[in-house]
Amino acid sequence: MPTSREECRRMDAQDPLAFARERFFVPEGVIYLDGNSLGCLPRSAPARMADLIERQWGKDLIQSWNKADWIGMPQRIATRIAPLVGAAEDEVIVADSTSVNLFKLAAAAIRAKAPRRVVLSERGNFPTDLYVLQGLERLLNGAVELRLVERSVLMDALDESVALIAVTHIHYKTGEIHDMAAINARAHKVGAFVLWDLSHSAGAVELSLNRDDSDLAIGCGYKYLNGGPGAPAFLYAARRLQDNLEQPLSGWMGHAAPFDFTDEYRPAKGIARFLCGTPVVLGMAAFEEGLKTFDGVAIAEVRAKSIALGDLFLRLAEERCGAEFRIACPRDGKTRGSQVALTHPEGYAIMQALIAEGVIGDFRAPDFLRFGFAPLYTRFVDIWEAVDRLAGIMSRRTYRAPRFQTRAAVT
Ligand SMILES: *Cc1c(COP(=O)(O)O)cnc(C)c1O
Repeated sequence: MPTSREECRRMDAQDPLAFARERFFVPEGVIYLDGNSLGCLPRSAPARMADLIERQWGKDLIQSWNKADWIGMPQRIATRIAPLVGAAEDEVIVADSTSVNLFKLAAAAIRAKAPRRVVLSERGNFPTDLYVLQGLERLLNGAVELRLVERSVLMDALDESVALIAVTHIHYKTGEIHDMAAINARAHKVGAFVLWDLSHSAGAVELSLNRDDSDLAIGCGYKYLNGGPGAPAFLYAARRLQDNLEQPLSGWMGHAAPFDFTDEYRPAKGIARFLCGTPVVLGMAAFEEGLKTFDGVAIAEVRAKSIALGDLFLRLAEERCGAEFRIACPRDGKTRGSQVALTHPEGYAIMQALIAEGVIGDFRAPDFLRFGFAPLYTRFVDIWEAVDRLAGIMSRRTYRAPRFQTRAAVT
């Protein structure tokens, strides 16, 4: 493990993923440790967007649905996601947002498991996941009971009343990883479906949805997959389940023959039935460029580097400012996602002070400082610099300045 800035530079020079950083615009003078919230801009995206807007939209107009295969984007882009999540190409599709995909798949799963009523999830799960499940509970008025339990008793709470367990694979604050195969196995034993949220997993860790016998999953396009702000999301449904699931947002794009314009909804065979309306073409194109940054990249190498970056951050933070923070993520890289978390009562102000010094992480209430590592562009020397500046802020108490104390709308 490196013990100086120079050693970090040497590690960067030997990094088998070093070539991938060239695929991004990483702003000059910025150490960006927030690729888990919004991935950096792929270098190929601006030209792609300009061509899409000026030629495909501006000149070819409606013809581009066929000529530029806009209509095929949900399936085509998904073929780049499938290998990253360990699924077959016809088990993944790109559509809507993560929140909307959660609604569609959770509703479909509940319907298929009736008369079971219980949807199990974890306290402290990502808010949108809980809010969408609460919305379903209200909508289905008695046909669903949302049961929230502590993470430590999740497995024990899986009994024969459970229709669906919906959990986030890597926790957004602590970075803890759930054992996917173990939860799937336990759920299947009691006859429940599992719906995984892969928002902090896809593009960051090795996933094997098929090998782990996963039922359903959703995930985010704008984090490690570099799809751009508000990028479309993806969803996965195991092939063995697809034709037995019916989702409630039964729009025309999920119809067996959308351009027959018939009055009766008839779901498409396979994964297409999980589409709702017209694809968001601009967002889809940017997402496609984001996914191209993974061309020729072995996800095992991404994972190995991610663990090394996290280990380095934690070790340096402990050496340089150990007494100041509590480490709120797993120390063992094998059970930690591509992020670390430190807590401090003045966490918000400390993060503001750090951002003012060019190190961008983020803050999550009540007291979490979160640093994400995107191995395609985060370097070892970035970790060194980030902790160096953090240590300076803590020793000089820079964060106490009033300008670091006021909160913006997005933290
Ligand atoms: C980022 C994230 C989302 C995002 O949902 P949107 O619908 O894109 O706002 C959902 N779930 C988790 C766990 C996330 O981390």
